Amino acid sequence: MKVHEYQAKAFFADYGLPVDRSILCRTVEEAVTAYRTLGVDRAVIKAQVHTGGRGKAGGVKVANGEEEVREYASKILGMTIKGFTVDRILVGEAVAIASEYYVSILIDRKSKSPLLMLSREGGMDIEQVARETPEKIHKITIDPLVGMTDYLAREAAFKLFDDMTEVKQAVPIFKNLYRLFTEKDASLAEINPLVLTEDGRLKAIDAKMTFDNNALYRHEDVFKLFEPTEEERKEQAAKDKGFSYINLGGSIGCMVNGAGLAMATMDMIKLYGGEPANFLDIGGSSNPEKIVEAMKLLLSDKHVRVVLINIFGGITRCDDVAKGLIEAFEQLNTKIPIVIRLTGTNEVEGRELLHGTRFTVGTSMADAGHKAVELARSLA
Ligand code: GDP
Ligand code: MN
Repeated sequence: MKVHEYQAKAFFADYGLPVDRSILCRTVEEAVTAYRTLGVDRAVIKAQVHTGGRGKAGGVKVANGEEEVREYASKILGMTIKGFTVDRILVGEAVAIASEYYVSILIDRKSKSPLLMLSREGGMDIEQVARETPEKIHKITIDPLVGMTDYLAREAAFKLFDDMTEVKQAVPIFKNLYRLFTEKDASLAEINPLVLTEDGRLKAIDAKMTFDNNALYRHEDVFKLFEPTEEERKEQAAKDKGFSYINLGGSIGCMVNGAGLAMATMDMIKLYGGEPANFLDIGGSSNPEKIVEAMKLLLSDKHVRVVLINIFGGITRCDDVAKGLIEAFEQLNTKIPIVIRLTGTNEVEGRELLHGTRFTVGTSMADAGHKAVELARSLA
């Protein structure tokens, strides 16, 4: 789960990380008032959206004086950055930057540990640094049973700074960032950039945090910040109905019973050159209501051109599934082609029932996969 910069900064402040005063605004007038309240000459106006790269998109501006605050606030509010419309801006005290550093903690799958990443080349071009000069990014694995010890934090600080006055400021920053990361079950805590100001102080002028969805149940303070996207709303609605549903953006809608079979089905579609629209595990049972609900979910995705139904009949019998499908589609008004593959208990009877109906029946998983991919291609 993602949060906005202003929300991440509130966590930063709670954990003693150096963030400057800033005020969240929803209108140009609020921004002007915030500027007066801050009582500074230079203010930074920042778009609050669930995506990075705001600076490059023109969503971060330093304003000199009230007129510029007004100008930038009205430009940034309403702007679209990578598909996200800006409805909030953060107005903060602008700092005089001497240099920018990159600091983050994330979960590293390889070492199965938190990983501290550091670079002296922080700022808006960090992706380019990672691509072209990866040796400029230092990685320090943190043993989760030992945590961020003083010596580890000092070792990290020396990767970024040569001067003791800066090292001394950096050590508590790393320790506090790690404490925040673990206590809130974050999957990412990033400061980019951490800046050294012209008067020699370290400050986090940007803050990014994402949280582990599976741990949200024990962090009410984090969960209340959840702002679902259209897709996430749909996924939540599916979950409430007892389905596992993940949108993947392709053109072949998949309806499968069992998570393993659903994964295999998606792999197969990819193998034959198609793109799955989703992962959908409808679980056991063949009851028509469930199939109707699942189909509605699939068909509400405008990218879906073909639906592939892949069912393994174990306890659920294939003839029951076939009956359920026929009954369900009497209620559903759709012209979208449906490819079905049934296997397992009573599969012959099941296929017999589907014979001569609007459904395209695949004889094997591969056959059904090919048919679905071909249909999707012909309808593109
Ligand atoms: P991002 O592009 O979404 O990561 O947004 P950031 O908050 O990181 O801001 C982008 C860039 O704007 C930073 O790398 C800084 O160079 C610049 N910037 C942000 N805040 C300030 C500020 O207070 N003063 C100055 N001079 N520059 C700032
Ligand atoms: Mn940034």
